[in-house]
Amino acid sequence: MAQWFTLKAENPEFLLFFRMGDFYELFFDDAVTAASALDIALTARGTHAGEPISMCGVPVAAAAAYLSRLIRRGFRVAVAEQIATAPSQKTCKGKTGPAQKGPLPRAVVRLVTPGTLTEDELLEPGRSNLLTALARKSGGRGGADSWGVAWIDISTGQFETASCATGELGHLLARLDPAEVLAPPDIDLGEYELRRHPGAPPPAAHAAQARLAETFGVASLDAFGTFTDAEAAAGLMAVDYIRRSQAGTMPRLCHPQPQADQGILGLDPATRASLDLLRARDGGVEHTLFSAVNQTVTAAGARLLSAWIASPLTNPERITARQACWDWLRHDTATLDALRQILRGVPDVDRALARLSVGRGQPRDLATLRDAISAAQRVAAVIEAAQHGKRPSLLEQALSALLGATELERELDRALADELPARMEDGGVIASGYDGELDAQRGLRDNSRRMIATLQNTYAQRFGVASLKIRHHAQLGYVMEVPSATGAKLRTRDDLSFRQGTASAARFSTDELIDLDARISAASDCAAVRERQIFGTLVTKALQEKELPPLAQALALLDVVQSAAMLATGGTWCRSRIDDSLAFELTACRHPVVEAALGTGGRFTANSCSLAPGHRVMLLTGPNMAGKSTFLRQNALAVILAQAGLPVPAKSAHIGIVDRLFSRVGASDDLARGRSTFMVEMTETAGILNQAGPRSLVVVDEIGRGTSTLDGLSIAWAVLEAMHSTLRCRTIFATHFHELAQLSDMLPRLSPHTMAVRDWKGQVVFLHEVVPGSARRSWGVHVAKLAGVPLPVVNRAGRLLKELEQEHSAGQRPLPLFEDHPPAAEQTREPVDVSTNVTFDVFERVLRTDPDSLSPREALARLYELKNAA
Ligand code: ADP
Repeated sequence: MAQWFTLKAENPEFLLFFRMGDFYELFFDDAVTAASALDIALTARGTHAGEPISMCGVPVAAAAAYLSRLIRRGFRVAVAEQIATAPSQKTCKGKTGPAQKGPLPRAVVRLVTPGTLTEDELLEPGRSNLLTALARKSGGRGGADSWGVAWIDISTGQFETASCATGELGHLLARLDPAEVLAPPDIDLGEYELRRHPGAPPPAAHAAQARLAETFGVASLDAFGTFTDAEAAAGLMAVDYIRRSQAGTMPRLCHPQPQADQGILGLDPATRASLDLLRARDGGVEHTLFSAVNQTVTAAGARLLSAWIASPLTNPERITARQACWDWLRHDTATLDALRQILRGVPDVDRALARLSVGRGQPRDLATLRDAISAAQRVAAVIEAAQHGKRPSLLEQALSALLGATELERELDRALADELPARMEDGGVIASGYDGELDAQRGLRDNSRRMIATLQNTYAQRFGVASLKIRHHAQLGYVMEVPSATGAKLRTRDDLSFRQGTASAARFSTDELIDLDARISAASDCAAVRERQIFGTLVTKALQEKELPPLAQALALLDVVQSAAMLATGGTWCRSRIDDSLAFELTACRHPVVEAALGTGGRFTANSCSLAPGHRVMLLTGPNMAGKSTFLRQNALAVILAQAGLPVPAKSAHIGIVDRLFSRVGASDDLARGRSTFMVEMTETAGILNQAGPRSLVVVDEIGRGTSTLDGLSIAWAVLEAMHSTLRCRTIFATHFHELAQLSDMLPRLSPHTMAVRDWKGQVVFLHEVVPGSARRSWGVHVAKLAGVPLPVVNRAGRLLKELEQEHSAGQRPLPLFEDHPPAAEQTREPVDVSTNVTFDVFERVLRTDPDSLSPREALARLYELKNAA
């Protein structure tokens, strides 16, 4: 228990897995927490301060599964192992040290936290696992703080940094989707709150550059690019945390790469959440954009495709360079098939390197490297053999990377045995003929074994026992075994020493056997030591091979390229035209996820969308369930795919680069964080109004739905005006306020569209077609019926609707509409919203103006008047 208390005190925020024989045991509060989290039995053992000590345990052999459950539920675990001391370890000479007295020493050998995993069982193959650190750069007196951000995936070695303003942190975190965030306690992490760890206090900024440089063995970080002090501090925080988690062993990390934030499509957290890019709202991966486009066949390819989707580009040249690769490949099915075939067998180089670098590598990890290098050569050959048109430049670069590291491959090929054992301890890893000393030791061992085999015949004759056997026995070593009846006669001989008798057999040893036994075990031990040495040398060589990481990247790139080419071969996905214009023309576009869910057979209705500068704001009305949200999202997804350089599900697409994409579709209730639906909606609307510009694309659904009708209409109206005239962004604005369609008289760039429905015997039929015009009816009562609202309620609602409509047409309009001026009472009413009131006023005056009757001078005067009023 003293050991336990010491280790627990060093790692107070971790559940302590305390190794005892074949179990990891947990004690005290740790046991209570783990037993309930893992649903395992809680017991007690001994007492402490008069109280029984709570205890639970998990078998070492099944620990990975339990660890994974704990990590997923947000716990962190410290693993304490029994560590044998040096003298008790077996030496090459086969001797063992004195037996240990008292409890075995134990030490924490590993901290398992969500952001520092290297075990395959705990990682998802196709997904990055990022540890992210945030270091504050104080804005000084009156200035705003900003942040240095660093993220590391130790399962692949990826290490990148960026800087951002406090207001943009949310965007960056949503893009990275980190597994764990090291952050000071006073910064709001939003949905990443549960993944926070305070980490160590951030290092002094000025020292961080030097210390981080030291970690990578360079004099200055300038060797890798320009880093702010805060970025270096964040990088160092992450590196230190990783070093601590691996108990001092530093895994292989790529050198840090500063990511200037320019060049990436702006997607705020709400937009990502509404589009289900990599994860659906239910947390799963099904029904995501990723799963709809993913045809990759390797884990590294899947990770790269995720990265492309999470961070689409804004530079047309970079986008076109990606498109050129799959476009080149898609017309050549033979090459495409051959590539897929080879890539299918390519193992995960990044994760093998990560395991090797923390000393958890196994023989198969070296085999992984060898196989990947040889696959890369075959991939290169296939590409070189394809003789159609000029190879795109990105492929050309990949090609030269694929041809690297050949020396390492030859070395591994010679060194590794044909049949590799699963674990290093099993021996037989290194091929014979590779190392003279190892071969000699193995020769000695095998010689002695052969000699023993011949002894069986010799002894059988010498002692006159035909059934005599020589066997290896765990405790006794090699012994001669005879039936017990014969054994009794032999016990008198002085050239035999009796070792053991059982009911059926008697066991003897001889000087010869003892001698051979010692020789075999000495030679085996020496062979094992030598084998480990060779393995270590090979691992070092592999980790130092500079050409290996680029080769792995090139393989991942080719996998993404072939995946995109596969999508594009069917003829229903197109290569979009991307340029610096403000165009937005999608012909016959589809929502890939909804389409996939509806199944084959063309049940999805494709829709075009045109937001050219002359009509850049589309106002979309239509009943619920008619397909508005689907249409909104599909246009946003088309931008993401197009700017990621991937094929777009449309007949054709022409998109002028979008700098920021805003999507507000579908209810995003944030009630858990104590904000009402309306408050959330308004906060998100404010986000758009404050950030969108003429290069942005905004798709919004039902602004103003969370409040009273008048309020809602006024807000929707004002927001639509602002998007149309002030922000001048390309916009699709879906609303159930049909009245807004009449604004097209005032707003020249507004084009009203509606979801076509057919009235069939009083029933609504959704055609899912977007057509010019505006909806006349809401069909809400019919949708309520479709949804299974009880018939009496539906019928009552239908009658009420009729009555209200009659009142409405009798002149008692509930809403101020454009054909009429607002009634006098409306004007003297307490204003709900000042800006809306003013807008009404200005509109009224505009409506009363007859432009044809004004002289230019009068028109100018009227304009000033209106401006003053506004
Ligand atoms: P709304 O936002 O207007 O309430 P949704 O976009 O949620 O409607 O669409 C409702 C359902 O209609 C979807 O789940 C889908 O099954 C179907 N749907 C939507 N758009 C299409 C389409 N273009 N083609 C075929 N079915 C569609």
